[in-house]
Amino acid sequence: MVRLNYDVIVVGGGPAGMAAAITCARAGLDTILLERGRFAGAKNLFGGVVYTASVLSLVPDLFSASRLPFERPVTEEGWWILSQDGVVKITHTNATLRESPPRAFTAFRAKFDAWLAKQAQKAGVLVVPKVRVIDLLIKDNFVCGVQTDRTASWDDHRPAQVKAPVVILAEGVNRILSIKAGLVPRDFSPKEVALSVKEVLQLPKGELESRFGLQKDTGLAVELLGEASLGLPGTGFLYTNTSCLSLGVGLFLIDYATHNIKPYALLEHLKRHPVLAPLLAEAETLEYGAHLIPEWGFFGLAKLCGNGVLAVGDAVGLVNPLFREGTNLAIYSGILAGKAAIYAHKKGNFGYHTLRLYEEALKDSYIYQDLRYFRKLKTFLQQNKSFFQTYPYLLNEVLHLYLTAQGRAKQEVFKEICQLIRKQRGVTGLLGDFVRAMKFLKGW
Ligand SMILES: Cc1cc2nc3c(=O)[nH]c(=O)nc-3n(C[C@H](O)[C@H](O)[C@H](O)COP(=O)(O)OP(=O)(O)OC[C@H]3O[C@@H](n4cnc5c(N)ncnc54)[C@H](O)[C@@H]3O)c2cc1C
Repeated sequence: MVRLNYDVIVVGGGPAGMAAAITCARAGLDTILLERGRFAGAKNLFGGVVYTASVLSLVPDLFSASRLPFERPVTEEGWWILSQDGVVKITHTNATLRESPPRAFTAFRAKFDAWLAKQAQKAGVLVVPKVRVIDLLIKDNFVCGVQTDRTASWDDHRPAQVKAPVVILAEGVNRILSIKAGLVPRDFSPKEVALSVKEVLQLPKGELESRFGLQKDTGLAVELLGEASLGLPGTGFLYTNTSCLSLGVGLFLIDYATHNIKPYALLEHLKRHPVLAPLLAEAETLEYGAHLIPEWGFFGLAKLCGNGVLAVGDAVGLVNPLFREGTNLAIYSGILAGKAAIYAHKKGNFGYHTLRLYEEALKDSYIYQDLRYFRKLKTFLQQNKSFFQTYPYLLNEVLHLYLTAQGRAKQEVFKEICQLIRKQRGVTGLLGDFVRAMKFLKGW
């Protein structure tokens, strides 16, 4: 860090921070991005599927790059609904995706974030890794810079301060600075964040393709429901990469504590599932990690910006867990915050009333509409446990009975299916769940 005054400081080199920094630098603003990791992406973990549209909105010439920062295109996606010993697979395969740009790709954050950092440098951003921002500089009620964990110079051992009239906080789920800035009232509660554990598994050569029915240019991305999360609100995932696969599972933090479940034991349980175990046979673990996902924190928000400061991405809970969307919301919010910073520089005014252009643009976007629409999903699922506890298992049993020749009259089988449904959920329960689900989908 040679110079210590910039037009914009971005804290955090994930997709949100990179998008904000690139947007500002392309408009000619002198932009510095501070990232605590050894390099952008070094400390980051996700499932991971990235969405083409969001990446294109930041890097329009994405497909002219000689090497894409992705693993496989996602050509088949959906849900595997697990019981204790079976699975109902609901997936959709799009054959035309092999010709046109796919809507999504699997990826690794270490590669994807590092590639975004290169795009940022190309745009003129000074990307500085290995620097942790430890505090905000606040003067006359305006955020005007940050304090880092680096020393100012070789002979000045005080923490280095970097100054700018706009600071964009893209620090992710551990939103210490956003709280300090007064943007969010508190940390996420254990009911609002999920903890996911993930393993990257290497199969013997050629086995990935043969076990998952893949070609060189196809890929599978499925969410795992039911027994994957032991019938609790949560999901697992299985995504295929170029030569390995990503397998993970997550629950709300509170449920680990309440049900005394160890995260690693949950993943082991998933790996031993009779449907998954043969698919994972002889797999070697390449990576193991865990990360928090802010699943329902968005509406605990006070504001998205203040005097001289904006917050983007996971820091403000921009995640849509039902559709495993996070990186795209991070990128869009970063772009919108960047535009607000540009506008503030043009006006020469960095107060809340100028920067709230970002808040307004976000409220007009599909991000806000989606998060608003699904705002009560957590409460809905927590109050209607049968969607995780009963239906995945019931669906498996019903389809098993329906599809398998039983050596008896079909009418008798149908009767048994009806009895099973009545016993496990009851007609009133079933109707009640249906009505509540419809009400929920209509937006309450
Ligand atoms: C297990 C899991 C699976 C997921 N799967 C998907 C998926 O398949 N698809 C999808 O779209 N989304 C997925 N998500 C969500 C997605 O990863 C996040 O929504 C997205 O990464 C948020 O981006 P961000 O830039 O806001 O935060 P982050 O990606 O968390 O980046 C924050 C950055 O800030 C840095 N930082 C933090 N504090 C400081 C500081 N004080 N000083 C300097 N640097 C700092 C961190 O090192 C990090 O690089 C998943 C998340 C998890 C945990």
